Amino acid sequence: MYDQVKQRVPETLGDADRHYLEMAMELSRSYRDDQRRWPFGAIVVVAGTMAGQGVNQVVELNDPTAHAETMALRAACTTRRSHLLEDGVLYSSSEPCPMCLAACCWACIPRIVYAATSLAASFSWNCGSNWRSLMALLFIWK
Ligand SMILES: [Zn+2]
Repeated sequence: MYDQVKQRVPETLGDADRHYLEMAMELSRSYRDDQRRWPFGAIVVVAGTMAGQGVNQVVELNDPTAHAETMALRAACTTRRSHLLEDGVLYSSSEPCPMCLAACCWACIPRIVYAATSLAASFSWNCGSNWRSLMALLFIWK
């Protein structure tokens, strides 16, 4: 299955997609060694401009909903002064969980681009393997 997806990625990801996905991955890397934050990052781009970014702050804020994606959505909604991001794209360092996916649906975000699958992220987290090597697995959902 991974081989099929890898072959599809170059056809579907544009330069802007790669740029913003790399930014989301860099956010996750920047907090990799911070015990208060889990290494996840997300960016919301609206109309070609970054409207918000977020990192996982679940432990730091004592908030189980403070995933990188929801934090990026909150920031983007504040920036745009709207609860709807109908022309937005969410870029995430890993596959959004069901809560974050539902939040994207409620915000009417039509497109999500993510790097690692939830399975790969879980494997990395539990086994302490190299996070960057797992980021090589690129997926897109539209
Ligand atoms: Zn989530």
